[in-house]
Amino acid sequence: MTSAAAVSTAPRSLRDLTFVELEREFVASGLSPLHVRKLWRAVHRDLKTDFAGEDFVPPLRHWLAGNLGDRRRFFLDAPTETADLASTDGLTRKFLLRLADGQAIETVVMGYAGRQTACVSTQAGCAMGCVFCATGQMGFVRHLLPGEIVAQVRQAQLALRAAGHKSLRNLVLMGMGEPLHNYDAVMTALEIISDRGGLNIGPGRITLSTVGVVPGILRLAAERRPYHLAISLHGATEAERSALVPVSQRWPLAELMAACRTYFAQTQRRIFFEWTLIAGTNDSPAQAERLARLLAGLDAHVNLIPLNPTNGYAGSAPLSGAAKQFKQVLEAAGIPSTIRQRRGIDVAAGCGQLRAEKTLAR
Ligand code: SAH
Ligand code: SF4
Repeated sequence: MTSAAAVSTAPRSLRDLTFVELEREFVASGLSPLHVRKLWRAVHRDLKTDFAGEDFVPPLRHWLAGNLGDRRRFFLDAPTETADLASTDGLTRKFLLRLADGQAIETVVMGYAGRQTACVSTQAGCAMGCVFCATGQMGFVRHLLPGEIVAQVRQAQLALRAAGHKSLRNLVLMGMGEPLHNYDAVMTALEIISDRGGLNIGPGRITLSTVGVVPGILRLAAERRPYHLAISLHGATEAERSALVPVSQRWPLAELMAACRTYFAQTQRRIFFEWTLIAGTNDSPAQAERLARLLAGLDAHVNLIPLNPTNGYAGSAPLSGAAKQFKQVLEAAGIPSTIRQRRGIDVAAGCGQLRAEKTLAR
């Protein structure tokens, strides 16, 4: 017997479906799979939310009439844009988006040397509790659905088109939330986003940043996921890291580094490491030396991020001399690094400042 509960009838966003899932859906409805490409392009390349002027064949129009809309199986709403803030340097824009259930998330678009990068959220809030991060300070609200992640890239793309910019080039999963805590939805979203007939951001232009969820890192390697991986480290001893990143107690530094080595052995891919520099806490030359020893033998690149201020944490960014010295110690040990440019601080769009409830105009 099939219970009503076993067959989910909850409407889904068309943006939740991968190309293959949409194809399956069409075949099951007796439609030719040839029509999938048409609909896919309208949704993911032309970024449409309704198809009034489309030259769809009658069977496709018929399918849409029966399956899309109020009390139908699928919907295609876009999140409501509740604010669009531009930084004074004009290079960063932050969007506050309200989802169907009222939750607010943030999406940032940054222009580096003409290359536009979108930074998207994967959860509303975050359960990991890093002490210096505004999202961690607000706690976990819920996972995002694949379509809600895809919709953020759509939003960024639409904004760029409207401003006469070239297409989005890069995507980073460094907004609100921990991507590997929402593994399946994130992988589905990335498959949709990287599809060449749609949003077309190739896997080599996508970076996923994790606080160090060890099972997720091993799964990325086992599944040969083709995205760049960044690991947020911040401390090179267990005690120093745990003080900043509480989940280090669950996935200790030694286990995390072992997972990185497994990942590297299986994929031969360079791993990026992120290190939020906090004056007097983790910015000394001795700490840089410990970091260099920890990364020895890996193909590693370190991104140094001077701390951005948040209400819930008293630390501050180091003086630029300390950051440069930290970088030099790494370089002397043969480890390349970059000091990340500070962007969008005036609209609270810098790393870790994404706290929707603070800035949302209700
Ligand atoms: N949850 C993932 C991705 C989102 S956070 C992760 O932690 O990796 C993206 C990056 O911003 C992480 O490296 C994080 O440590 C950093 N970050 C968070 N708060 C920050 C702050 N206040 N200043 C500078 N970097 C911060
Ligand atoms: Fe979550 Fe990343 Fe912020 Fe840590 S730094 S609380 S993992 S979003």
